[in-house]
Amino acid sequence: MEPTDPTPATSNITVRRGEPLVVVTDVNKHFGELHVLKNINAVVTRGEVVVVIGPSGSGKSTLCRAINRLETIDSGVITIDGQALPEEGRGLARLRADVGMVFQAFNLFAHMTVLQNVTLGPIKVRGLSKADAETRAMALLERVGVADQAHKMPAQLSGGQQQRVAIARALAMEPKVILLDEPTSALDPEMINEVLEVMIDLANDGMTMIVVTHEMGFARRAANRVIFMAEGEIVEESTPDRFFTNPQTTRAKDFLSKIL
Ligand code: ADP
Ligand code: MG
Repeated sequence: MEPTDPTPATSNITVRRGEPLVVVTDVNKHFGELHVLKNINAVVTRGEVVVVIGPSGSGKSTLCRAINRLETIDSGVITIDGQALPEEGRGLARLRADVGMVFQAFNLFAHMTVLQNVTLGPIKVRGLSKADAETRAMALLERVGVADQAHKMPAQLSGGQQQRVAIARALAMEPKVILLDEPTSALDPEMINEVLEVMIDLANDGMTMIVVTHEMGFARRAANRVIFMAEGEIVEESTPDRFFTNPQTTRAKDFLSKIL
């Protein structure tokens, strides 16, 4: 007899139980009096897609920034592929390159072409030749559907195109995990899908992803797991189907009743 598939029939992705890639242990963070991360524990395994969801101000961005060491933590440990993130120095640059980051507001370098945006990191941090970096960059721009924009400046592109360039730029560093912090919330509605499609493609390709988003469609199609945060705590962890159809906590129910 076939073993019973524990994932609901509506989920098209089997939960992958890989080795731990991002491990967050007992992490606390304050901004002055404000306790923004309260004893956070989370594990993201290789190839897993985790959606982080929760009200504004609940600490989602701070958690992403802490994982990438754009923010210090007060206590606890964050490891990437078994290595604790150092506070500073060359080790930090190398480990930070393992974590790709895509922000809400595109953050492309405005004074560089699209192609230069994507080749800069690989040349400066990974030590690639300009020719190799450009070959790889063009392949990535092709993959996200903006190769024909390579020689334009970011301001000449639509928001959706800029965000796809930002994803290509993150991928160019060959990160072990990619963090996307509300990557579609600054986009005009008609551009959201073109970015979500690229993200779904990455997820299907086995990329380890941590995605802060309220896009339920993305969560249902691509996520293995949903982490719901409120007031600096992880309140609920669930599969997308269970989280959206049958949230377990009052705080998750309240939140979903506001966004759905
Ligand atoms: P989210 O991404 O879930 O909206 P954030 O992580 O951005 O939440 O913020 C969590 C809390 O920390 C909020 O109350 C926010 O105002 C506060 N905060 C974020 N960054 C800073 C900062 N640099 N200095 C002081 N307070 C901050
Ligand atoms: Mg945020």
